[in-house]
Amino acid sequence: MRSLSGQTVDLLVIGGGIMGAGIARDAALRGLSVALVEQDDFASGTTSRPTRLIHGGLRYLELFDFALVRSDMREREILLRVAPHLVFALPFLLPLYRPSLWYQAKLRIGMQLYDALSLDKSLPRRRWLDRDETLAAEPSLDPDGLLGAWRFYDAQVPLVERLVIENVVDAADHDALVLNHARATTYLRAGDRVGGAAVHDRIAGTDLEVRARLTVNATGPWLDRTIAPLRKTPKPLLRLTQGIHLVTPRATKQAHVLLAKRDGRLFFVVPWLDATLVGTTDTDYDGDPADVAATEDDVRYLQEEARRAFPNAPFDTVHYTWAGVRALVREEGVSEGEVSRKHALFDHERRDGVAGVLSVVGGKITAYRAIAEEVTDRVTRALGQHARCTTATVPLPGARGEIPTHVHPDPVARLRSVYGSRALEVARLEGNDESLSERLCAEHESSAREVVHAVRDEWAMTLGDVLLRRTMLGLHACQGIECVDAVADRMAALLGSDAQRRRAEIEAYRLEIEPMRRFSIE
Ligand SMILES: Cc1cc2nc3c(=O)[nH]c(=O)nc-3n(C[C@H](O)[C@H](O)[C@H](O)COP(=O)(O)OP(=O)(O)OC[C@H]3O[C@@H](n4cnc5c(N)ncnc54)[C@H](O)[C@@H]3O)c2cc1C
Repeated sequence: MRSLSGQTVDLLVIGGGIMGAGIARDAALRGLSVALVEQDDFASGTTSRPTRLIHGGLRYLELFDFALVRSDMREREILLRVAPHLVFALPFLLPLYRPSLWYQAKLRIGMQLYDALSLDKSLPRRRWLDRDETLAAEPSLDPDGLLGAWRFYDAQVPLVERLVIENVVDAADHDALVLNHARATTYLRAGDRVGGAAVHDRIAGTDLEVRARLTVNATGPWLDRTIAPLRKTPKPLLRLTQGIHLVTPRATKQAHVLLAKRDGRLFFVVPWLDATLVGTTDTDYDGDPADVAATEDDVRYLQEEARRAFPNAPFDTVHYTWAGVRALVREEGVSEGEVSRKHALFDHERRDGVAGVLSVVGGKITAYRAIAEEVTDRVTRALGQHARCTTATVPLPGARGEIPTHVHPDPVARLRSVYGSRALEVARLEGNDESLSERLCAEHESSAREVVHAVRDEWAMTLGDVLLRRTMLGLHACQGIECVDAVADRMAALLGSDAQRRRAEIEAYRLEIEPMRRFSIE
């Protein structure tokens, strides 16, 4: 087993979802030496399966989580500022049907609170739309019994995978060592102190030791499994719940928050890229997070509710689905939807008598920067350092320089919509090599340059990495199946793969998207 250049880094972060990537970036920006390891690809876990909202969450007001909503609203403002190419304001309608007076009053107070908790926001305030105004804004809404709707603003991060990648890029630009497809297999221990982890590099097929003064476990829903060797008790830290989304043809003009008739839960119907996102569900989950997939019941539930709200919209077609596992701080005796979305940090010295390891539990994408700040503050204090957090003001890499305000159909604008100002790096790749300008498929604007950029500059190793988490071509209805051969050819040339490996890669991609396409109805 080889050691990582014989060095000891200040911080090893295990898990390359939004939390791990955010922590690695914050720590690297503060000048710490950092290693980040991810067992699969960056953003391949829960982070790529959310509703993609950057929001306080109206629902959490009902749970009286005012501090959480306030802090998430503050983070929403920060993300709109430091990642304006990835995080956008999004107006919502919350339609009311034959509401009781009590419900109307409750919602009015909720709306006032939502505004009051974000007084310093740049987004417009709430407004009540009467029935005619509501139907003019969204003609496909069911008019039967409609009183009107609240319009309020939140934000959306359509390409959340890119938010993770940009955090990783910035961490690496500040000298962090970042490894995907590299699984932490065991902790390196000296008595009651952890000093890093042994890591298996699944691509190279090699093992290495990453020695670290401190280790942060940011493995999301895998945490109970990955921390088990250090725990005194098998009592889980997490409550896992599954949530799914449907991706359908564009069905509504606006984003909506709706009440499900079947069980009174809130769910979203949101315009997303050139499609519509419907979600989500919330049911206890006890399997391996890697195996999570939508069930027929989940799909039927969301389809029925969406059809009920928009009787003539095209919800019969489902391009694909995705399912994710929420890692919530364990609470017993409450229903799935009532478990708080607050995060927690566990110092295993206090809990389990093992020094040198912190675990991050729970927390929304919306809060990732603040959580990373809190974790990194703890880390720097423990290391006796005093560098301050800068992530609330330092823009992400794609937000440095000129940023597009909206998306055009021309190729450079598409590049900008995915890579922000880093589009220029992609566009200028390899100067005059004409072949790099070739389109990858007839349907979508995309060129071979993006594949080269993903592999050379953003650690993409598999077709799934390139299609689903770098170029984002795999998020279209076709999921990149049209261009998979062209992308595989490019990757094989870049990675020196033979024909057999190329075929295996294509097969692996089909297997990766199979759970998403299991309920496709075209
Ligand atoms: C249905 C649903 C909807 C949601 N909607 C929203 C929303 O709209 N807005 C919002 O703010 N939040 C939302 N969330 C919450 C949000 O998605 C999660 O809180 C967040 O993505 C968690 O990020 P993470 O980095 O902790 O976990 P993950 O993204 O799961 O990352 C953990 C990583 O650890 C890696 N790992 C595991 N074991 C090892 C190991 N041994 N070695 C190396 N790496 C390892 C995994 O491969 C994984 O990539 C939603 C969640 C769900 C499920």
